[in-house]
Amino acid sequence: MLNVNSVVSLNGTFLTGREHAYLGAAMAGALSGDGPFTARAAALIGELTGAGRTLLTCSCTSALDMCGLLLDLRPGDEVIVPSFAFVSTATAFVLRGAVPVFVDCRPDTLNIDERLIEAAITPRTRAIAVVHYAGVACEMDAILAVAARHGLTVVEDNAHGLGGSYRGRPLGSLGALATQSFHATKNVQCGEGGALLVNDLDLASRAEIIREKGTNRGQFFRGVVDKYTWVDVGSSFLPSELLAAFLTAQLEGFDDIQRRRHAAWSAYHARLARWAAEQGIGQPTVPDGCAHPAHLYYLLLPDLANRQALLAHLERRSVLAAFHYQPLHTSAGGQRFGRTTAAGCPVTERIADRLLRLPLHAGLTPSDVDQVVDAVLSFEVSR
Ligand SMILES: *Cc1c(COP(=O)(O)O)cnc(C)c1O
Repeated sequence: MLNVNSVVSLNGTFLTGREHAYLGAAMAGALSGDGPFTARAAALIGELTGAGRTLLTCSCTSALDMCGLLLDLRPGDEVIVPSFAFVSTATAFVLRGAVPVFVDCRPDTLNIDERLIEAAITPRTRAIAVVHYAGVACEMDAILAVAARHGLTVVEDNAHGLGGSYRGRPLGSLGALATQSFHATKNVQCGEGGALLVNDLDLASRAEIIREKGTNRGQFFRGVVDKYTWVDVGSSFLPSELLAAFLTAQLEGFDDIQRRRHAAWSAYHARLARWAAEQGIGQPTVPDGCAHPAHLYYLLLPDLANRQALLAHLERRSVLAAFHYQPLHTSAGGQRFGRTTAAGCPVTERIADRLLRLPLHAGLTPSDVDQVVDAVLSFEVSR
């Protein structure tokens, strides 16, 4: 077919208006980290998440790596991780010699199945890492209760969930530690960037030291100590002021970004509902008590062949859709460094083959949304 439409990309960067001015202001000062824009961005993230302490990092991956260090993991310790997740949710702990124990996801929200967690706990278990997939909260009351019963730390990988909430509580404020991503595929972006949210304030001063190469430089700048020195393990996890400046502009435009993303998400959800029901295709589930931040919109096809057929069908109509996570437990790294429980992760294996993400970003125009919806509606499942 002829491509008369423009290409609708899966992700995109939406400039909220102040990015150029703030980059210029950052260039007039020191470019290294922890300057005025870093403080502004951290304060805005703190307001959105209600986090105890916000530390800007170079990525969500580096914030997760900091969690691995803060947990003081020893070789052979175990961390419970969803198999349906990004690789960094597991590698952060593998880097410390710990074993990720993969748990299956729920068939509705695709989040870690909280009912399977307790059976995965052993005497070596130290923490439970969760991902709020698509920014829809995991069943956190149940997860926090299991963690409390077994003395485990909860880490929220909240890369999708900035601005989302669970029973009135912001995502990112629920675990002892939480992480954010500002990668170019996320709602709020600076190319590569992230944050560590420290809700257990007993971990805050050590988190600051680990982020500053194992030194007490932060205390020195606040006048708490008269010289700074090496005190603990650590690395360089802080981003440049240039990135913090761009990120500040994005965070100040958060409401605008979110209005635009929700408009596209809601249009897909409503306009595809009848077609999806007729074709036996699943749409996202958002349980009561969960407010999601329109991070991604997915469809669940009946099987792999139909998922691949819809991807190709959309590409011919200039709509760039994509699949998503491949199960961690069947990946080469997952097999080498992790394990599953006896139950395995059969839901994750099925979902990974069937899931398709539609374009979703703040720069989508109403005509882009029409183009996506028309392209999807012209597809028929083959049985
Ligand atoms: C994007 C993402 C990450 C990694 O984020 P980076 O900032 O690119 O390191 C980690 N976990 C999840 C769930 C993600 O979606």
